[in-house]
Amino acid sequence: KIFTSEDMARYVFEQYGIKWEIRSHVRKVEEGKVYTVNLDGEEKEFDFDFAMLIPPFKAQPIKWIDKDGNDITDKMCNPAGFVKVDANYGKPYDELDGPDWPRKYQNPIYKNVFAAGIAFAPPGPLSKPGKAPDGTPIGPTPPRTGYTAELSGKAAALNIVDMIEGREPSHTASMAETPGLCVASMKNKILDGEAATIAIYPVARNRAAYPEYGRDLDNCAAEVGMAGAWFKLFLHYAFLYKLQAKPGWKLIP
Ligand SMILES: Cc1cc2nc3c(=O)[nH]c(=O)nc-3n(C[C@H](O)[C@H](O)[C@H](O)COP(=O)(O)OP(=O)(O)OC[C@H]3O[C@@H](n4cnc5c(N)ncnc54)[C@H](O)[C@@H]3O)c2cc1C
Repeated sequence: KIFTSEDMARYVFEQYGIKWEIRSHVRKVEEGKVYTVNLDGEEKEFDFDFAMLIPPFKAQPIKWIDKDGNDITDKMCNPAGFVKVDANYGKPYDELDGPDWPRKYQNPIYKNVFAAGIAFAPPGPLSKPGKAPDGTPIGPTPPRTGYTAELSGKAAALNIVDMIEGREPSHTASMAETPGLCVASMKNKILDGEAATIAIYPVARNRAAYPEYGRDLDNCAAEVGMAGAWFKLFLHYAFLYKLQAKPGWKLIP
């Protein structure tokens, strides 16, 4: 059996006494109480002291107006407000694959508009979307993680340089070709620390390249332990050093 990130999340949540509810839509939140409906149509309510909800993503509500004064927001963005780029939009979940994910982050209508990181509209979901019996959509939004955000931002920036210097955009970074990395700290201590480390490659399933699972399992890892806590500490200082652009910052990935 493959040890999945879901197995790891379950293990960590159980260890720390955290209750979770997935495949559900939050209908209402009151002080200390949350009301949900799940894919089977079950209405539930939970008491909480602390809760973390992962809502559907929405972009900044920016209005796009063309030079004639027409509102072109629908043409430029998907319904959640993310900017359309060079992805294959409109495919159903079962047909969506790696090559449908954007590579240059350039808007197809206005070539001088780029959207990278969280700002671009994904071609579709990464996990199978569902609906409660009453039609309420329940589907996880594709995560746009930090590393892919950085790579896509860099590709978009270098593509703008290409255009300024009179070339066609040539730089690419697809979420179906780049890894997602996460170090989730549970205990920030040197000798008794604990963190969950997850690496997944590629973030967006790519069955064209990896037919069985859409992922390269040799490059996927999930582990909980002290090494993760040390790694997180190292990243903390390395990133702060890099952000301050101190000598040699370019060497830090
Ligand atoms: C709790 C949490 C944990 C995470 N953990 C991980 C992890 O372990 N690994 C990982 O890879 N990723 C992780 N991520 C995801 C990662 O942080 C994001 O994918 C990444 O920061 C996206 O970068 P971005 O530049 O696209 O957007 P952002 O970092 O959100 O940057 C957008 C910027 O635009 C600014 N802005 C917004 N509106 C306007 C406006 N109208 N005008 C001007 N500026 C504006 C905002 O202030 C912000 O600074 C995590 C995210 C969260 C919230």
